[in-house]
Amino acid sequence: MSFISRFRQALRSDLESPKAERQLGKGWVSGTVALILAIASLFLVIGLLYPEWFTFKETRPFYEKPVFHVVLLGVLLGAFVLAVISLVLRQNKILGFTALFLVILATTLGGANAHSHVAQGSPVYLGMDWFVLNIIFTGILFVPLQLLFPRYPTQDFFRFEWREDLFYYFISTMLVQVLTYAALWPALTLTSHTHWEAFRAAISGQWLVFQVLEIMFLTDVVQYWVHRLFHRIPWLWNFHAVHHSAQVMDWMSGARMHFMEILVLRAFTAVPMFILGYSQAALSFYIFFVYLQSTFVHANFGWNLSTLGRYLVTPRFHHWHHGIEKEAIDVNFAIHFPLLDRIFGTYFLPKDKWPDGYGIGGHPVPKGYWKQFWYPFRKQSPAENASEPPGT
Ligand SMILES: [Zn+2]
Ligand SMILES: [Zn+2]
Repeated sequence: MSFISRFRQALRSDLESPKAERQLGKGWVSGTVALILAIASLFLVIGLLYPEWFTFKETRPFYEKPVFHVVLLGVLLGAFVLAVISLVLRQNKILGFTALFLVILATTLGGANAHSHVAQGSPVYLGMDWFVLNIIFTGILFVPLQLLFPRYPTQDFFRFEWREDLFYYFISTMLVQVLTYAALWPALTLTSHTHWEAFRAAISGQWLVFQVLEIMFLTDVVQYWVHRLFHRIPWLWNFHAVHHSAQVMDWMSGARMHFMEILVLRAFTAVPMFILGYSQAALSFYIFFVYLQSTFVHANFGWNLSTLGRYLVTPRFHHWHHGIEKEAIDVNFAIHFPLLDRIFGTYFLPKDKWPDGYGIGGHPVPKGYWKQFWYPFRKQSPAENASEPPGT
């Protein structure tokens, strides 16, 4: 085994340590947080060095502000201090030393004062900073929520297949530019061929709250039917099966989605958002909201939320969509309004009950990002066609 794979194995096994080894005072919490902060700061420093290649265009002006550099310095210092605490407390030094090495590397590259070395611009970029900002923001919101009110209290932070879902998160945020461009292309092309300016002005002139509610309803109707087709048509199901292959539900499970499915889903839902002329504020608010809600509905959050659940999709409602039971097959397609499933006859929410498990019976989807990426394209042998769409 090479040094790198031995190192990865050792790091992984320390992150996935048994509970007794993760108690406060054992140096696990400090080591893990140090490692996360160290990776985050290294990525941000690389972004500062090569903004044209590794940063999201929309976030670039933010890096000019002094406050960003102060925060980055704070993150580097925090990672350093926590790494030292972990090294003192923990018998296994791999977390502490890895974090310390990454902090030193980020500092050597320029740290919080790193400057761009790229003379000319690049039209194509990766959202390395977008990945960091996204995962830290989402983690700060959802990790405490899951720790305080879990559905599955014994579920670990580094649970089954956490690396796979993190990699899904990484890819879809790194490719933010390609995804946004490709997904918006049909909607913007259609919009440029429509000439109903008065109608569009009336739509964008409504109160923001009405605009957002209308977008939620229209995109959910589109999403409902695209989603249902993904379940119904065998070829499409092989793409969507990847999302349903998650056997554990938490804030990162929703990220597991085949690249092609993300594109198709976003391309279709973008059409009503853009063609009807909603204001930029309404679009931005909606995109933020749908991101939060789709993360929330996958989370390991144990409240039944029965009253709210009559009007809005909750974790329990969407967990049933992922349930492994027979009754959970082809139900609860909506992502905002359960009303759509009531209207179209696919509503299933037994009182106060949760599914017994998650995934697809027989677990036909292979493990790992790349195997899952090629899974729908492979010519499947009859035996492999065990992954029939649930409803057929
Ligand atoms: Zn589904
Ligand atoms: Zn889901």
